[in-house]
Amino acid sequence: MSAERTNWAGNLHYGATRIHTPASVDEVQDLVARTGRIRALGSRHSFSDVADTTGELVSLARLPRLIKVDRAARTVTVGAGLRYGDVAAELHRRGWALHNLGSLPHISVAGAVATATHGSGDRNGNLATAVTGLQLVGGDGELLAVRRGDPDFPGAVVALGALGVVTTVTLDVVPAFDVRQVVYDDLATDTVAERFDEIFAAAYSVSVFTDWAGTTRAWVKHRVEDGDDWTPEPAWMGARLAAEPRNPVPGMPAVNCTEQLGVAGPWFDRLPHFRLEFTPSSGDELQSEFLVPREHAPDAFRAIAALAGRIAPVLQVCELRTVAADDLWLSSSYGRDVAGFHFTWRQDPDAVLPVLAEIEAALAPYDARPHWGKLFTAEPEQVQERYPRLADFRRLRGEYDPDDRFGNDFVDRYLG
Ligand SMILES: Cc1cc2nc3c(=O)[nH]c(=O)nc-3n(C[C@H](O)[C@H](O)[C@H](O)COP(=O)(O)OP(=O)(O)OC[C@H]3O[C@@H](n4cnc5c(N)ncnc54)[C@H](O)[C@@H]3O)c2cc1C
Repeated sequence: MSAERTNWAGNLHYGATRIHTPASVDEVQDLVARTGRIRALGSRHSFSDVADTTGELVSLARLPRLIKVDRAARTVTVGAGLRYGDVAAELHRRGWALHNLGSLPHISVAGAVATATHGSGDRNGNLATAVTGLQLVGGDGELLAVRRGDPDFPGAVVALGALGVVTTVTLDVVPAFDVRQVVYDDLATDTVAERFDEIFAAAYSVSVFTDWAGTTRAWVKHRVEDGDDWTPEPAWMGARLAAEPRNPVPGMPAVNCTEQLGVAGPWFDRLPHFRLEFTPSSGDELQSEFLVPREHAPDAFRAIAALAGRIAPVLQVCELRTVAADDLWLSSSYGRDVAGFHFTWRQDPDAVLPVLAEIEAALAPYDARPHWGKLFTAEPEQVQERYPRLADFRRLRGEYDPDDRFGNDFVDRYLG
């Protein structure tokens, strides 16, 4: 029954009266059937109150470790509470990979999928796009299944925990592959604005980090193909190949990060920036992110650059990534390729929130969607108007959860 009462960053104390940690799917079913308001909790990495409730929380971290590969279907079915890092190493051992990962392997599969967590790559959809099926516990404690191809499937995958407690997730897999990762120092911000598309098309996954105070670097993750003799250019886009490993967060040690310097290694040990054994990012932080239609990315970048003097004093680092379009109703990349503008802030809400509001105002003309798991200040109506399938999701929620067992303030606020 014991579990942490705060989120990972410590900026949110959960309002739940209890946090349950059942040891089997049967126990989850019994628990849901006999509890009033209840909601699933993942690995607690969200900064917003998306996971919170005034009812009760249930964590699946103690459920048996399920990782079942179907070679013919090219899928893996995993326990929803497992971390990507646990799943990835085992998949690799069996010769398989996921198409992409977020910046850290510490997050749970169901929790990441529920908020449309993403990595980077022009042709890579977010992590939820790998989902082919879900099993979940509905309000009466019954087990439900939803599969790709079902009419409501695109509404059920990125669902912010509002449809039930997901117990297993089935994901597409691809044959295991290697990645070479290099960092370029001293990238000019003007170059990022002017050559945005070229920069992000340069590799399988590209991230640009800037502190808006003179340090801008690119993380270039090249997928190794058979017979590939890729060697990184010593200079690229006016930037210089780093001769030593870097941590994206200025001042943090590079030992926390996945191997760089172009050394080929397994996908799960290169696509995330941070290693499972270490604290990801800085650990003492807040985060926000806004996903902007790709065609607006250079203008959105310039709009943020105009606020550099306001942003830099309260920022640790800002990361730019790209994500391919998908058809998942509540996904931040629903219906359009996007660029993500992410901010790792100092853990000082009073100083950060006014700057955050200025950024949101500057991005308003670009139809930016906030990351559900990070902090934002937009009014609910502004968020709602950016999701064209919201009415469909409301209908789905009414069907899955007629007694409003899985809702919370966040869902009521932003999804109505
Ligand atoms: C250091 C750090 C780095 C990050 N990097 C990235 C990144 O690279 N890309 C990115 O997009 N985001 C990133 N994030 C944000 C993070 O990926 C999301 O907030 C994600 O949702 C966290 O997953 P979690 O398992 O911690 O879920 P939680 O935060 O615990 O919960 C998130 C949501 O998932 C729901 N949920 C959890 N489990 C279940 C379940 N079994 N059934 C149904 N619903 C469930 C919860 O109810 C809640 O609505 C980062 C966060 C941190 C702290």
